[in-house]
Order: sequence, then C-alpha cells, then structure tokens
Amino acid sequence: MTSTLNRPDVSNPNTQPMNDDQRTIISALKSFLKNKVEPGAAERDQTSEFPMQIVRELGEMGIMGAQTPEEYGGAGLDTATFAMIIEEIAAVDGSLCLTVASHNSLCQGHILIGGTEAQKQKFLPALATAEKLGAWGLTEPGSGSDSGGMQSNAKEQPDGSWILNGSKNFITQGSVGGTYVVLARTDAARPGKGKNDGISAFVFNRDEVQGFSIGRKEDKLGLRSSDTAQLIFEDIHLPADALLGERGNAFKDVMKVLDGGRVGIAAMGLGLGRAAFEYAARYTTQREQFGKPIGHNQNLAFRLADMDTKLEAARLLIRKAADLKDAGMNFTVPVARAKLFATTVGVEACDEAIQMLGGYGYIKEYPVERMWRDNRLTRIGEGTDEVQRLVISRDVLKRFAD
Ligand SMILES: Cc1cc2nc3c(=O)[nH]c(=O)nc-3n(C[C@H](O)[C@H](O)[C@H](O)COP(=O)(O)OP(=O)(O)OC[C@H]3O[C@@H](n4cnc5c(N)ncnc54)[C@H](O)[C@@H]3O)c2cc1C
Repeated sequence: MTSTLNRPDVSNPNTQPMNDDQRTIISALKSFLKNKVEPGAAERDQTSEFPMQIVRELGEMGIMGAQTPEEYGGAGLDTATFAMIIEEIAAVDGSLCLTVASHNSLCQGHILIGGTEAQKQKFLPALATAEKLGAWGLTEPGSGSDSGGMQSNAKEQPDGSWILNGSKNFITQGSVGGTYVVLARTDAARPGKGKNDGISAFVFNRDEVQGFSIGRKEDKLGLRSSDTAQLIFEDIHLPADALLGERGNAFKDVMKVLDGGRVGIAAMGLGLGRAAFEYAARYTTQREQFGKPIGHNQNLAFRLADMDTKLEAARLLIRKAADLKDAGMNFTVPVARAKLFATTVGVEACDEAIQMLGGYGYIKEYPVERMWRDNRLTRIGEGTDEVQRLVISRDVLKRFAD
C-alpha cells in the first residue's frame, strides 16, 4: 500500500444540503485547501511552522472574518456556513482549522458581542482580513474549567485608565497575535453572585501597549503548527476605552463567546473524524489480506457503517445549534450536545481509522495518526467533555425537577 490513496471528494450533497452561495464558497475553499494547504500540512506538523502566508490568503478570501458583518470588513456569513467552512479546513489541516476557528469565534466573537461601535470599527477590519491575528485569553495556570478563579487583575486609575497584571496559559495565537481580548478581575465578587462576578474583559493591540510579553510556547501532542503560548502582563497601562463590555460582568459575554466557539470546535471534531473515516474507508477497499479486500470482512464494514452514521448525526446536531444561534435563540444546551457528540465520535473515527490501517495507521507517512493527535484537543478546548456534560445535565435535572 502507498500513503497516497486518492482522497475522495466527499461532500455528499445528500447529507450536507447547501444553497448556491454555500456551494460557491465551499468549492473555492476546497480548491484552495487542496492546492495550497494539503501539500505542506504533514511537514508543518513536523516543523511546527505557523502558516502565516496561508492565513493571510484566507484573509483575502473572507474566511478570517467569516461571521463578521460586511460593514466591518468581514464576509457576514451565517453560522451554518461557518460550520461547513470549519469542517472542510479540519478535514485537511487541523492546526490551520484551530487558528481559523479561534480567530473568528473567540477574539472577533467577543468584540462583536461586547464591543462598542468604536471598538468594532477600531479592531474588526484588521482582524477580518487577517492583517492582525486575534487571541483570546481566559485560561490561566491555576484556572481552566473553573475560570472564575483567575488571578489576573486590572486596577482602575484615577483618570479611568487601567493597569493590568497577571498571565494567561495555552492561548491560541498567543505569540503571533496582534489583537488580544483578555479577562481579568477588576472587582471583588458581590455577595451571592458567585466568583465569576467582578471579572471584566479588555481589548488591545499588542503594538499599542507596554509590559506585554510572551512566555512559554507550548510543545503539543497535535495541532503542532497552530500557535499556543503563555501571555504575561506586567503593569500594562490600558486606556479607559480598552474595557470591553460591562465592568465586572464579562462572564455573561464569555458564556456567549464560548457557545459560539463550541459550534466551531464541534465542526472541527467532525471534519477531522470525517477525513480519517474517508481515508480508512478507501483503504479497506484496496488493502487485501486473506485474498480479499479487508473491507469485505463484515466486522470492518459494519464499523464503517457505524462511523458513517455517527458522523452524520454529529453534523445534524451542529446544524441545529448553528440554526438556533442564527435565529437568535438560546443554543447553550444544543451546542453543548453538539460539541460533546461531534468531538467524541470525531476522535473515535480517527482511532478506528488507525485500527483499520493496522500498522500503517501508526506510521507518520499516513495521515490518520496526525488526525487523531490533532482531534484529541477538541474534547478539551472551549469546555471539556465533562464541562459539556455539566451544562447538559444541569438542564436535564432542571427540566425534570418537581
Ligand atoms: C491547544 C490548546 C489551545 C487552547 N487555546 C485556548 C485559548 O485560545 N484561550 C483560552 O483561554 N484557553 C485556551 N486553552 C485552554 C483550554 O480551554 C483549557 O485547557 C480547558 O478549558 C481545560 O482547562 P484545564 O486545562 O485547566 O483543565 P482543568 O480545568 O484542570 O480540568 C482537568 C480535568 O478535570 C475535569 N474537571 C474539571 N472540573 C470538573 C467538574 N466540575 N466536574 C467534572 N470534571 C471536571 C476536566 O473536564 C478535565 O478532564 C487551550 C488549550 C489547549 C491545550
């Protein structure tokens, strides 16, 4: 067997209904991915080189400001189309996919949700075109899932400006970013409000502040050509208008940002799982053992059927969450279900693909081991499996309480 099995064109119109605009966008994107992204993806996984040129070209195509309204330089696409875009990028390069997803949903997402008109006009145009890359800092060394326990703090000055101190961990685009949205405690939590109270968000351009530095760049299992770094804030002086959203009440926006982000991470889990599934399905028709293609063994064929079904179900859950978001309805629980399921079955599909390729699946010459490594993050980032189960189970218990 060779590692260069023909990659089938997999966007099945029966399972992914698209309107004309979506078909045009996805067709242009797929051709870009095939010509410009796929050829270097395995090498970038080895070198961890950040693909700045590719990201800039995606900016020119409108992908880096996919959901940002046109008046701020974005493409103004709906969430279902965004999910399709993310699925396609993930199917080719997981690292690039995390870059695109976080830049859109987290940094721009937060400015869109919490920003004043002046902040939107100042920051969004350069982000939407990828002239500047966006990073979003919530996680800290001592606070991940329990992010209300953060230590970073900002103190208001007599003139209304702020002094920011602290650090952030595991920040995507941490070292390559130009615009940063960060969360910090500005006030003590009010009694009875819980520890998320008193936290505020700030937005700033890196080249406009002093006291900002990059700490450790992380050496990761997968997503190796996405950029993950620690941020360090030492007496950063921020103007009064760096405050993003309501003082002390940033968590209500953070929850909305994460809900939006989870659509993207769910679609990423699906895209990587789909690519691994397709690679394995093709492989089982070509690899012969015991005188016949291995896919002619019913055990393998039925496992392929199960993965095909689960991936389809994941896509429908994502579509439902995306449509609810675009309809302006609450989609917190639907997107938690979509992320939990899509990333679980996506990682499972990658694992099954390795198994179906046997020893070849474990070898770097074949792409499925990279897909598994890349996809493993989707069950952790933007709320772990367990956090999604907390969201879903709280809703279940509330609905069924007497
Ligand atoms: C590659 C990468 C990119 C990232 N990008 C960003 C970024 O751009 N911005 C950002 O702010 N963060 C980012 N993160 C951080 C990520 O969101 C956190 O790692 C994640 O939220 C989990 O936090 P933690 O790592 O501190 O784990 P912890 O919160 O310490 O959790 C450890 C384990 O305990 C479980 N657990 C915790 N609490 C509970 C509970 N109450 N019930 C049951 N189980 C529980 C968790 O599910 C997990 O399994 C990134 C992380 C990685 C690895």
